[in-house]
Amino acid sequence: MGESVLATAFARRGGALFCEDVPADAIARSAGTPTFVYSAAVIRDSYRRLSCALTGVKHRVHYAMKANGNRAILSLLRSLGSGVDVVSGGELFRAQRAGFKGHDIIFGGVGKTGQELREALKVGVKLINVESEAELQLLEAVARELGVVAPVGFRINPDVTVENPHAYIATGSKGHKFGIPHDEALALAKSARSLEHIDLIGLDMHVGSQLATLEPYRAGLDRLSDLAASLTVAGAHLRYIDIGGGLPVAYDNGDPEPDLEAFATVVAPAIKKMNAELIVEPGRFFSAASGVLLARVLYRKRSGGKDYVIADAGMTELLRPSHYDAYHLIESAKPNGRDRTVVDVVGPVCESGDFLAQDREMDDVEPGDLLVIHTTGAYGYVMSSNYNARPKAAEVMVDGARFAIVTARESYDDLVRLEQADPEWRDA
Ligand SMILES: *Cc1c(COP(=O)(O)O)cnc(C)c1O
Repeated sequence: MGESVLATAFARRGGALFCEDVPADAIARSAGTPTFVYSAAVIRDSYRRLSCALTGVKHRVHYAMKANGNRAILSLLRSLGSGVDVVSGGELFRAQRAGFKGHDIIFGGVGKTGQELREALKVGVKLINVESEAELQLLEAVARELGVVAPVGFRINPDVTVENPHAYIATGSKGHKFGIPHDEALALAKSARSLEHIDLIGLDMHVGSQLATLEPYRAGLDRLSDLAASLTVAGAHLRYIDIGGGLPVAYDNGDPEPDLEAFATVVAPAIKKMNAELIVEPGRFFSAASGVLLARVLYRKRSGGKDYVIADAGMTELLRPSHYDAYHLIESAKPNGRDRTVVDVVGPVCESGDFLAQDREMDDVEPGDLLVIHTTGAYGYVMSSNYNARPKAAEVMVDGARFAIVTARESYDDLVRLEQADPEWRDA
């Protein structure tokens, strides 16, 4: 069922690519390019498939909104029953605007400021996942000042080896900046018992993104189970076991889809043994495949023995190819029937690292053609920048035969809105 929703969400009719029931070309003509387009049906489907796989275990899904914090996507996921995982005060603010309440929100991140902790406590978030002893001390002080008790999870670094496509998305091995080393957590939990404004109610891990096998979940959960047992003996009452995100996404044709039943089989028994509620924080699993980036071909050129397609989108819209060496399928919205060619697809930014694909066999395209860059709904728009004074792209949501611009394209005025033309100088 899932595959069919994904397969029909971005399918061809009469040679032209549609986003659900709307031609990609119609969206590009109406919203301009570059534009991110998200399919509501794909998001609904992925949420339902995961919930369905986890029905046997008490759980709550908290969407990791750093993958895509668009208000329309947040509202849609909220309407399906999702909570949210935030990693900054800005995300907390966006989550609340999209209607999430305190109990829907988990606050994580390795470098929370005192101000962010204060905001999280004021909102009454469900869990603050603490990553160090120093942060725990700061949280105690902030909670005391506010006269509240902070609901705390320890983010554990379980020291598991992770196989995934890029070192930057592995987070749960020794030597990473994330989490409390698993062999220090018990001592920290014991010392936390003297902190009156800290209530340790959860354990958390997030071992990485785009996990190729279930082994890291299994190994990490083993570590968390051992720890939970000793913590319980030491008097803690753990209500939540948060296993983070990391469910993989198929970026290339033929990449395997995650086996959610197998995932549930690994996770559910471990959680039941710990007698706790499961929290999962998928990010890209919900949003990546829901999105495509539409871009126009500006020029073709040959240089140094290479063929280039120069598009009106590049690293400023989609950083993943240059930052993670990531693969995104690129096709023409309406192939012209000529033989496929091998090209570099590059953007207009003045950087050699500004590419979307290198040495790629793809549809032969010419200036004016519309490119569809697939699986760009996660870590796309949220990582975009204004480098080269490029206004940020528009975002569109499609639902059946309707579509809406849910984030307007930035204007030149937006680029300079915060600039002080006549700054007020102060004496030191
Ligand atoms: C990034 C992140 C996630 C989401 O990761 P995905 O690979 O997008 O599922 C979940 N939890 C935490 C703590 C994260 O940092």
